Amino acid sequence: MCAFDLDHYGELLEAAGGGGYRFAFFDHEPEPGDLFLRHDVDLSLEAARLLSAFERERGVRSTYFLMVSSVFYNLASSDGRDTIVQLRADGHRVGLHADFPALGLDPRFDDVVAWHNPDPEWMSVPLDGAVNVMSPPWFDPATYRSDSNQHWRNGCPHDEIAAGAFPWLQLLIHPEIWVYPGDSMRETMHSMLDRDRERRLEQLAADKIDLS
Ligand SMILES: [Zn+2]
Ligand SMILES: [Zn+2]
Repeated sequence: MCAFDLDHYGELLEAAGGGGYRFAFFDHEPEPGDLFLRHDVDLSLEAARLLSAFERERGVRSTYFLMVSSVFYNLASSDGRDTIVQLRADGHRVGLHADFPALGLDPRFDDVVAWHNPDPEWMSVPLDGAVNVMSPPWFDPATYRSDSNQHWRNGCPHDEIAAGAFPWLQLLIHPEIWVYPGDSMRETMHSMLDRDRERRLEQLAADKIDLS
């Protein structure tokens, strides 16, 4: 069962060990056995924190890419600052999930960038002073798999990972898809919004709003 949930995510991480992979950061060019575990945080800082803790418990290191001007979350809020602190404390790296063409790297980030919803025209153009994770040699369609919209274009890669079938791999995992329940992207998004409503009510109470 290839569900998009934390149980199966744990199985994917275990498969990486069985396949002989080691978790790598984007601070060197791909070498045989590297598994570049990448998280684009499009929608939810809470999802990023939950996945980060899940990985820490399993000794897994990855790179989280965060947005500076998302309509869904505020990286400058206490929630945003706490998230960066937790991701780093859990042993992960933090890169910029950038809206083209504004780059906006600042000291909160390592020198590594992943474009949000990139256009094929400029997706793979190398950057000055930072690694673009979709530029060669870090990106090659043969060694890249993504869970976008709760759909693996080539099927769930866990068997191939367990068999060591990729010489190396960049694996893009969107935290929201795995942390919130749902058998389709629509269901998962509704779960995320239900959770968000609870969180908003807590924030309103903390802001001394009368909810009686
Ligand atoms: Zn699977
Ligand atoms: Zn994105």
